[in-house]
Amino acid sequence: MSDAVEIHVAFDDHDSPRGGCTTHLVSLFIYILLKETSINPLFLDYPLLIRLNPGVPWKTRGNGAVVLRLSVPRGREKDLVELAVQTSIEYSSAFKSRTSSPGLAVLMGGKAERMRPLYLKALTDVVTPDIAIRYAEKHSILIPKEVRGRGVIGALAALGGLISGEDYTYELLAYRVPDMWGEPRRISGGSVRRMALATEPLTFSNYDFIKEKPLIAPRGPDPVLLGIRGNYPWILRKSLEMLEIEEPIDAWIIYRSNQGTDAHCILRKLSELRPYQTACIRGVVSGKPRIIRGGHVCFNIKDQGGEHQACIYEPAKPLTLIGEKLWPGDEIIVQGVVRPPSLHEPQTINVEKIEVLKLAPKIVYRNPTCPRCGHTMKSAGRGKGFKCPKCGYRVKNASKIAVRIPRRLKLGVFTAPPRASGHLLKPLSRIGWEKKRPPPPPEKWFYYS
Ligand SMILES: [Zn+2]
Repeated sequence: MSDAVEIHVAFDDHDSPRGGCTTHLVSLFIYILLKETSINPLFLDYPLLIRLNPGVPWKTRGNGAVVLRLSVPRGREKDLVELAVQTSIEYSSAFKSRTSSPGLAVLMGGKAERMRPLYLKALTDVVTPDIAIRYAEKHSILIPKEVRGRGVIGALAALGGLISGEDYTYELLAYRVPDMWGEPRRISGGSVRRMALATEPLTFSNYDFIKEKPLIAPRGPDPVLLGIRGNYPWILRKSLEMLEIEEPIDAWIIYRSNQGTDAHCILRKLSELRPYQTACIRGVVSGKPRIIRGGHVCFNIKDQGGEHQACIYEPAKPLTLIGEKLWPGDEIIVQGVVRPPSLHEPQTINVEKIEVLKLAPKIVYRNPTCPRCGHTMKSAGRGKGFKCPKCGYRVKNASKIAVRIPRRLKLGVFTAPPRASGHLLKPLSRIGWEKKRPPPPPEKWFYYS
């Protein structure tokens, strides 16, 4: 049929420290599109919240872009794009900031697969504006010239995300009425805890049961009131109803997302690692773990092509406790992002997940015990054997004794807690809940007051 055109519109980097946020802009755009125009689009999918490489230093707060996959009556494409441009410009001037650099990208006629290579690159590596724009030109992507900031990289890349066959999750984002922006959020922490207890593992990463803190609300002037993450849209609607919220909700939207899926974990070799890439390495622990000042735990990992430092930083505790128990020879997969070398440190993998595949025997060498009194002997000096510090007995021809120490580490997957990990990390509670089929069409995915 030729009476409708598929059109994908992507937005990125409308965030501002003064209260702007890309998803909030999108919530306004959807409102205007549905209620104030006659374009009459069909939403082919939930709005997509696409997270990109968390290791990129100049990212926006969550490094997330939003894509809308729509079908519009033929002839209305231009109106839709103009509205997107207009809304973006007005939003950016309302929340003007030096740090935001909005970008917009439009794909006409479907076939988003052509953007997948750029998506995978931006998910795991560093993409420059030149590369992204050249890629867009080659694949006939429209980049409106009025909205061409650094955000075009994320917008272009996001067009290739969540096409099919990939695992996905959902997040319900609720927005505040403008009068409340900057005010403390009035959400009962106890109700968040009860909601999480009642709905996990269908929901995830919404409450920190170690620190006893809700994880659903951002801080500061952000127009986002809260975000609830979960595996299905219906559980998110239900979870929202379970919360005790003492302020009006302006709107909410359910996004489909790649967050919580480990989408950024693409196995690499150590010799390929470059700063700011995501790292997902299968190798062998090649040195005893070192606990360094601040409670960070570092160890070396080696694969066929090289050896590399990996560190678990203190905020990722209790993952640090797993790191401390590693031993040379252990086979593991580490996942994280690559920090560039500094004055004092080599290039380092900042680890947020460890999978222990095989444990090496832990053998330590101890001095022999005294055959006369049973006390542990001491070295009598290099090549001079051992001497008992209690009874004075000496042996010349003795050597240290190999002792096998029981390992206090189990095989399995260990992660940093949600408060200390990136959006893309798959929480342990999602193992076994991965989606393999394409999503159902969107339903009951928005609310406007
Ligand atoms: Zn003795």
